[in-house]
Amino acid sequence: MPSEPLNDRARQASKIASQPEDYKICEGCDSIVARRVHFCPNCHGYRFNENPQAVIDQAILLGGRERTSVVSDDLV
Ligand SMILES: [Zn+2]
Repeated sequence: MPSEPLNDRARQASKIASQPEDYKICEGCDSIVARRVHFCPNCHGYRFNENPQAVIDQAILLGGRERTSVVSDDLV
């Protein structure tokens, strides 16, 4: 099996967490979307949470909570 969904998700999550200013969270479906979009591609919502810390938390959540050694609470 060439693709490992969990691994890909974790990799994308760490990428998002390293650049939270480029992303935001849809308040309709909790998806992480690019900051530049005006409507959520998943649910067409237009309300977003642009708090970078919230983006990081959500990215880690969606990434499957693999990175137990780096918890956002430890950074505050
Ligand atoms: Zn949405």
